[in-house]
Amino acid sequence: MSPDHSETVPGFAHFDLHPLLHRGIADAGYVEPRPIQEQTIPAALEGRDILGLAQTGTGKTAAFALPVLDSILAEPADGPIALVVAPTRELANQISADIRAFARHTKIQVATVFGGVSQKSQVSALRKRPEILVACPGRLLDLMNQGIVRLDTVEMLVLDEADHMFDMGFLPDIRRILAALPEDRQNLLWSATMPREIRRLADDLLHEPHVVELNHSQPIDTIEHALLPVDGQRKVELLEHVLREDGFVSAIVFTRTKHRAKRLARQLDSAGHKAIALQGNMSQNQRERALDGFRDRKFDVLVATDIAARGLDIEQVSHVINFDMPITPDAYTHRIGRTGRAERQGRAYTFVTPEDKALVRAVEKRIGSEIPRQSIEGFSKTPSPDQAQAEPFDSRRQRQGSRNGNGRGESSSSRSNRSGGRWQRSAASPASSRSAGTRPASRRRQPAASAGGGSGDGSRRPSQPRTRRD
Ligand code: AMP
Repeated sequence: MSPDHSETVPGFAHFDLHPLLHRGIADAGYVEPRPIQEQTIPAALEGRDILGLAQTGTGKTAAFALPVLDSILAEPADGPIALVVAPTRELANQISADIRAFARHTKIQVATVFGGVSQKSQVSALRKRPEILVACPGRLLDLMNQGIVRLDTVEMLVLDEADHMFDMGFLPDIRRILAALPEDRQNLLWSATMPREIRRLADDLLHEPHVVELNHSQPIDTIEHALLPVDGQRKVELLEHVLREDGFVSAIVFTRTKHRAKRLARQLDSAGHKAIALQGNMSQNQRERALDGFRDRKFDVLVATDIAARGLDIEQVSHVINFDMPITPDAYTHRIGRTGRAERQGRAYTFVTPEDKALVRAVEKRIGSEIPRQSIEGFSKTPSPDQAQAEPFDSRRQRQGSRNGNGRGESSSSRSNRSGGRWQRSAASPASSRSAGTRPASRRRQPAASAGGGSGDGSRRPSQPRTRRD
């Protein structure tokens, strides 16, 4: 079969991807690769291990999904060939949906396993030996212990949101899963931040990885964020005020506790909003119903605990509102990253009371800039946490360019903290992506002729032997 270029998106043509994937990319409506994709895909196609330091919203799913799919198309086999481990059911479902979308012109099968639901349908999906298995660690281990899943065919491992897995206490499970994998495999590790434990994991796991780092500690540029000082007693009123502002489409409102999420959703609902809660005490079915309803716009306010802060990609979230200040700087960036997705503009407001002072400082230190304070008439009698002069809300809205004027740049301290001594930095040295790969030899590609890793015209390399199943 000769490659069909008719459905190759020009912006993606230089990636040496299988033509059927180019069709999937075209169907997904992608026009230009995101920086993370530009910097990851060529090296991953060569079989290199990858350390991707990027938050969700940057396009990292395609950055790992496309090379994984390409490799499977090049060397079809019974699965699982690729194992993708993700911390939450929501993220696992989302990754599976993205992979299926890219693979829609192929026969590649994807199974998704996570806890909180019956394992029956997951077991039948696994019996079909899907090439790709997307799993949350707990259920995967359960299925391994029951002898239902064997991982000795796995040749590619993706660990997504490794820092979140660590936060959730999954690292021991991850280590157990790693022990069941064949040694000879390609590893793609993704993390928004690099705590010591993840660094250790990366050291153990990755062989001369190609490191891709985005400015992940900063809010992405399409988000306008602000602190709204408020009396703790009046947060609900302020929330209602914000939900009525111009440009409101839908909002994710974050609370600190499950109970508060549930109660606030009820309060908003009785005040006439279409609100639903998403919190950890809900069953898997209830959570899916809430998310689907929010995605389909049956609800326009999702009141969530941090369970929803990471990974979720829901279009048209115009506002993220931190009803309660997040308790870590990372949670702040993750939460507000739920808006401003896919290059749309978004607003993120954080309600702050004087007790939040230390947390505000920690967040600002991490993102390397001050978050603008805004007062809303009638709400900000309480001084802002650090007594900073709050700017009147309406005058701010008329000013253009404030969003980008807060000096966002990678703070040198956080950058150097994350840079591992033995990791090669890729973005600055594309040539480093051309050393030997760590993908199993059978799946390893020849080094590309160009630094971009592709042939430039979207055609396959002649040296690339292919067996097709599709
Ligand atoms: P992710 O970080 O993978 O969750 O991606 C965030 C959002 O960006 C998702 O809605 C993706 O479908 C979208 N996206 C990723 N890459 C591209 C691209 N190259 N062009 C347009 N949208 C993209």
